[in-house]
Amino acid sequence: MFETVLIANRGEIALRIQRACRLLGLRTVAVYSEADRDSAHVRMADVAVCIGPAPAAQSYLNQAALLFSAEETGADAIHPGYGFLSENAGFAEKVEADGRVFIGPNADTIRRMGDKIAAKQAMQAAGVPCVPGPSEPITSDAQEAHALAAALGYPVMVKAAGGGGGRGMRVVKDAGELDAAIAITAEEARNAFGNPTLYIEKFLDHPRHVEIQVLCDQHGNAIHLGDRDCSLQRRHQKVLEEAPAPGVPRDAIGKLGLRCVEACRQIGYRGLGTFEFLYQDGTFAFIEMNTRVQVEHPVTEMVTGIDLVRAQIMVAMGHALPWRQSDIVLRGHAIECRINAEDPSTFIPSPGTVTRFDLPGGPGIRVDSHIRAGVAIPSSYDAMIAKLIAHGTDRDEALRRMEIALSETVIEGIKTNKDFHRMILTDDHVRSGGPTIHHLENLLKRTEMSLSPKGTPNG
Ligand code: ADP
Repeated sequence: MFETVLIANRGEIALRIQRACRLLGLRTVAVYSEADRDSAHVRMADVAVCIGPAPAAQSYLNQAALLFSAEETGADAIHPGYGFLSENAGFAEKVEADGRVFIGPNADTIRRMGDKIAAKQAMQAAGVPCVPGPSEPITSDAQEAHALAAALGYPVMVKAAGGGGGRGMRVVKDAGELDAAIAITAEEARNAFGNPTLYIEKFLDHPRHVEIQVLCDQHGNAIHLGDRDCSLQRRHQKVLEEAPAPGVPRDAIGKLGLRCVEACRQIGYRGLGTFEFLYQDGTFAFIEMNTRVQVEHPVTEMVTGIDLVRAQIMVAMGHALPWRQSDIVLRGHAIECRINAEDPSTFIPSPGTVTRFDLPGGPGIRVDSHIRAGVAIPSSYDAMIAKLIAHGTDRDEALRRMEIALSETVIEGIKTNKDFHRMILTDDHVRSGGPTIHHLENLLKRTEMSLSPKGTPNG
């Protein structure tokens, strides 16, 4: 049990966690950088502590400052949110060593799932289908790597065991590219993640990204809360998500969900987690597990009616899950648009002061945001400023509600990708459901071509 939660994050997720804490009668401690002094999460917390200057390395990633703030404010639990230290096993270990609860799985599980090779091995042992390719690292023997790639058949993907955030992976089209791809990716991985270990897997050329949400308590109970489709991506970053995944047979999701639940039992998982899969030609292939709350969790909340963050905190407190698998029923359809402060055509971040911020409303509409008019958006962090979520009795209604919500949204003072979302929603393939992970990039290329004077790509 705990009574005070320090929220080691900022922005909309810090507010989201605060709301769940308040619902449970827990005291909240906000931490903030100098750039976030006037943020909503600071204003609304019971206690707020400045932990350093704007750069994340000196504030939201400053483990000593966070641990010290927890000590000073009497926080007996730390919620890491997503990003920052949420999947940092060393931090989770320190929190627990200080006698506090880390709201997430234990450090060993975070470490194991954070290593994509170890995660793949654990999934294979639990019978979860994986992307074809060995669950062993590439050795320094170049001939061996060539033999592996040839056996899989080109194109293959070279991926960093410690990769994340869409970085540390490279598509290799033929044998001539393999040596260079291995050298460059290993170097990138060493610099970005401190771990140059790589592995090879088959590159799937027309998959969808479908993921399964799980929730486990500390008493051996585990359930899944259905699926999400996050195929609309730009540079491996999700742009628009929905639940459930349109057109994927429900019995296949049910079976996959049970496999994920079984894997959770085998690895002794606790808390919220997401199993990410590529789905191609009717087959699922595991790519990685995220051991934290995800940006797109609201679409699952809308279709299940379950407050996932509240449930996550409750299982961290030691409560048993109040639901069995048969209690989880998906109702209707939900879509989320990530609204970013960025130029809609170049995608370059657009920090600055928001002069107007009119939000949509009405049945089935939810907005998760920490922004209001007058707030300055710092350049130091992720550009996401709001999540618009639309729920409907079916996908058509959810789509229509999202279009209306986007048309009602007025944001001035900075540039946003709002109109990019409106464009996406007019696309036939998006409307019919089930585009692949490459669809959005292809759509962008086509739009660029049609915008440029001679019908050729500009720039
Ligand atoms: P990260 O941890 O950086 O998010 P993931 O392993 O989850 O990396 O992959 C991110 C995205 O990269 C996927 O959603 C998918 O778009 C693409 N991807 C990853 N592995 C493959 C693969 N084997 N074939 C095709 N695309 C892939």
